[in-house]
Amino acid sequence: MNETPIARLADYQPPAWRVRHVDIAFDLDLDASEVDCTLSLEPDPDQPLAELVLDGEDLELLAIQLDGVPLDADGYGHANGRLVIPAARAACRLRTRVRIHPSRNTRLEGLYASRGLLLTQCEAEGFRRITFFTDRPDVMPTWHITLRAERARFPVLLGNGNPLDTETLADGRHQAVWENPHPTPCYLFALVAGTLDSVSRDIVTGDGRPVRLAVWATPDDVPRCGFALDALERALRWDEQRFGRYYDLSQFNILAAQDFTMGAMENKGLNIFNARFILADQDTATDADYLGIESVIGHEYFHNWSGNRVTLRDWFQLSLKEGLTVFRDQEFRTRCGHPSIARSTISTP
Ligand SMILES: [Zn+2]
Repeated sequence: MNETPIARLADYQPPAWRVRHVDIAFDLDLDASEVDCTLSLEPDPDQPLAELVLDGEDLELLAIQLDGVPLDADGYGHANGRLVIPAARAACRLRTRVRIHPSRNTRLEGLYASRGLLLTQCEAEGFRRITFFTDRPDVMPTWHITLRAERARFPVLLGNGNPLDTETLADGRHQAVWENPHPTPCYLFALVAGTLDSVSRDIVTGDGRPVRLAVWATPDDVPRCGFALDALERALRWDEQRFGRYYDLSQFNILAAQDFTMGAMENKGLNIFNARFILADQDTATDADYLGIESVIGHEYFHNWSGNRVTLRDWFQLSLKEGLTVFRDQEFRTRCGHPSIARSTISTP
């Protein structure tokens, strides 16, 4: 049995290898998904050259290539949650293909299945359960993400960033391609696949960028997503007016998930929420319910700058991104939120 090593702030070392770009493609299914990932890697010139070591847990390695050349068993080491590539000595492209099992993933870290949906949770160290990677927040590649699945079972395929392309494939399958052009650590990676519907709104940011805001849920839940969509637009406008921070992608998607262990997660351009922080209707929701939704929507949206674009060096800095973002969401709630909510907050002792 492996024991988790103790991490100490005093032991922090900058990463010896940088991942500049990730090209990752998924063949999605509930029982077995395959992940084909090419990492564009380079040694950090300011660090001593070190062996290339990647994190990976519960991954079934199907194929591995270094700069297009398949590695035989002597060319890599794979044990105890580590993939070691001794032959990597300079800038290179490492391609791996792995199989993972979302429906067996009871840890709900990485890619997991929930009521016919596939979704992810990667903060803090879940991405290593999706593919081999330097799973730490100070490694920040750009991302090209391809999601493929059977259209009938997974008609909606959402990823981080900007939607680039969709395509119909053979055998009833389809694919969606997403691109996240902003250097982003892997703990902010997300995908969602399944039968979903949405409420959406097209807006233009204060600096002129057209953006589609959308809240996704199972079709039965969509009629109760309207307040969350309104709250999202209020949060976006408030961050523009209060801090001069403009949204930086062409879509902002939120998923309301019934099974989600975190309250909500600020994945880049694709927030995933526990549905209780999204769904509300006027017949049953209380002021406190609306306040909670407004607050959490604002909090996760504000992370786009405080946490995502300006991110962590290491997990000892978690309180910095959370503390600053809580400060921002509290200001939002008390000063600029929904009028009834602002009143109820101000009257709170
Ligand atoms: Zn947060």
